[in-house]
Amino acid sequence: MATARSQGGAPKSAGAAVGLHSAVQYLRGAGPYLGGVLHGLGIETIQDLLFHLPLRYEDRRQAVPIGQLKGGEDALVLGRIGAAAVGFTGKRRTLRVSIEDASGSLLLRFFHFNEAQRTALQPGRWLRAYGSPRGGVGGMEMVHPEYRVAERAEDLPTEARLTPIYPLTAGLSQTKLRGLIQQALELAARDRSLLLNLPGLPLPDSLSALRLIHQPEADSDARLLMAQRHPAQGRLLREELLAHQLCMRLLRRQVKTRPAPRLANLAAAQAALQAALPFQLTGAQRRVLAEVAQDLLLQKPMLRLVQGDVGSGKTVVAAVALLTAARAGYQAALMAPTELLAEQHAVNLGRWLAPLGLSVAFLAGKLKKSQKDTALAAIAAGEVSLVVGTHAMFQQNVAFAKLALVVVDEQHRFGVQQRLALRDKGPAGLSPHQLIMSATPIPRTLAQTLYADLDVSVIDELPPGRTPITTVALVNERRPELTARIGEACRQGKQAYWVCTLIEDSDELEAQAAETTAAQLRAALPELHIGLVHGRMKPTEKEAQMAAFKDGRTQLLVATTVIEVGVDVPNASIMVIENAERLGLAQLHQLRGRVGRGAVESQCVLLYQPPLGQLGRARLDTLRRTTDGFEIAQKDLELRGPGELLGRRQTGVIGLKLADPQRDAPLIPELQQLADQWLDSQPELARLLIRRWVGDVEKYAQV
Ligand code: ADP
Ligand code: MG
Repeated sequence: MATARSQGGAPKSAGAAVGLHSAVQYLRGAGPYLGGVLHGLGIETIQDLLFHLPLRYEDRRQAVPIGQLKGGEDALVLGRIGAAAVGFTGKRRTLRVSIEDASGSLLLRFFHFNEAQRTALQPGRWLRAYGSPRGGVGGMEMVHPEYRVAERAEDLPTEARLTPIYPLTAGLSQTKLRGLIQQALELAARDRSLLLNLPGLPLPDSLSALRLIHQPEADSDARLLMAQRHPAQGRLLREELLAHQLCMRLLRRQVKTRPAPRLANLAAAQAALQAALPFQLTGAQRRVLAEVAQDLLLQKPMLRLVQGDVGSGKTVVAAVALLTAARAGYQAALMAPTELLAEQHAVNLGRWLAPLGLSVAFLAGKLKKSQKDTALAAIAAGEVSLVVGTHAMFQQNVAFAKLALVVVDEQHRFGVQQRLALRDKGPAGLSPHQLIMSATPIPRTLAQTLYADLDVSVIDELPPGRTPITTVALVNERRPELTARIGEACRQGKQAYWVCTLIEDSDELEAQAAETTAAQLRAALPELHIGLVHGRMKPTEKEAQMAAFKDGRTQLLVATTVIEVGVDVPNASIMVIENAERLGLAQLHQLRGRVGRGAVESQCVLLYQPPLGQLGRARLDTLRRTTDGFEIAQKDLELRGPGELLGRRQTGVIGLKLADPQRDAPLIPELQQLADQWLDSQPELARLLIRRWVGDVEKYAQV
């Protein structure tokens, strides 16, 4: 299981020296089993182990007087055992040990303990413990602290240095890991690559920085280290961010060296579509289209991200680009994250583009085989110019006759590797242009971190005539009242969504919840036509439900989060979201963005289950206060960090260990420049750094 590793090879021959690039199992005391355990942490080589960095530090250098302990602040204490006895906490057998020093006494509680432990904890002995104190009934206590006992206090010295705490996995202890890292550091001292001068990065050098971070000196500035502000950490996080930039910029270059079809006349396509639209394009839409037009003129693949808040009108921008490709005699594809959204796009685009002579094919996983075969044959023969579908479109080896443009809509999880894969989908030797649409507005520097391979355009203006959305939070008990009000509004011609959400990521449970809610609402409001749409329905059923709602045949649509992105019914003006306190801000903002699309005043009701936790309250407050997607994204970052905002996989594409894209954003512009310089003048160094932090770049390049 843990023998041959992709990167870490065996030493060349028996007795040959183990080096930084050898598999980690060749360290003393490691072996194949531990190699497998470490593999679970993404550690293959000895070098990888060096770059497995502490999550945090614990300060065990000085015992805190018991009388000065503060609840929740981890601390080291040293005291004499006063009493030790086994009793019961409720039904649980508990070992209670009290220790005291000159300033006070502390109760230690153990729920899991063995006989040897119990007998070692004799009154009169000394005990050193590290743990999290909290206020109990009779004073401060610690539950399950780490501890050592001895006859004399002198036998329990404090640590000379900060104690690094690493991310672990089952089968690995901090002590074991520290021992292995110690060996790796010894090996590294003999390896030149960690001592290489990396131009543009501040000192200390990589090896000194690693040594200090893994094994702080007694005189290393503990405060800086614990706050992640030590120069050694500053050096490494810059290395990491640079490696990340290098990797993505390198991949961008690889795509950009490929020839792409030249698509001229976007302006003409824009004029043709504009003539058929009931509204004028906004200034922001036109500006972004001008940027796209420039890209399409070059014979290199476009790699452009269009960011625009919910409702900013990204679909029209996509439609103009698609039309441009089709008119140039090529095919274009639009990829949506869900079938529901793909269906809606197929309908909308068909409505806009069919009068202009364009045929639209819809490809979904659940189409009947005969339908799918017909569509595939038409695509392969070049008979359809526009294909709309989900990502399955590219997984299933659909053969396009002459694909020149791929638009990816609302795919936060569409990472570098997938973008890279698209480059081979074009006709003979040509790579298609790529346009990525995102409604997760993220601050510019964060976009530069996460989408370093893309050019970014922003639609920073909403179409005119929108009325603001009023948002209220409502405790779940007031559902009956809310139901009555919704009934009244619908009788007056309004339309509403009622979204059922669950925290478990289960389509099935969510669908059940929606069915139950729909049944309850139908019973409470018998005079209304109430629709229902969820992820477990057949595509045709979903489509029929959406169509009925869009045409006003149903007034209330009970839905699951399948309607989170893209769904567009301008007459709908009320949005009810259940369990709102459990959803992330970005998701709530997307859901709310389904209303406020027409001229009627819109309302969003966030139903919550008390008591509200701190996070839940902060989210609901933010949402009530603002509808600005950028502000909400910023707040979301503060509350949860970028991994959550974009889905773990997004940041996990490269997996930042030390750097925090939010905190370290100010470093990005400079590092992006440095990355481009390195790629021009020192490509070997670039590869070395990528290897250090990201791993095997060829892994990405050969998708
Ligand atoms: P999103 O950016 O969220 O994908 P859509 O493309 O779905 O937004 O557009 C939202 C709504 O705004 C749609 O009903 C669309 O037809 C309409 N729309 C788009 N552009 C304009 C515009 N310039 N003026 C008025 N309405 C517009
Ligand atoms: Mg959209």
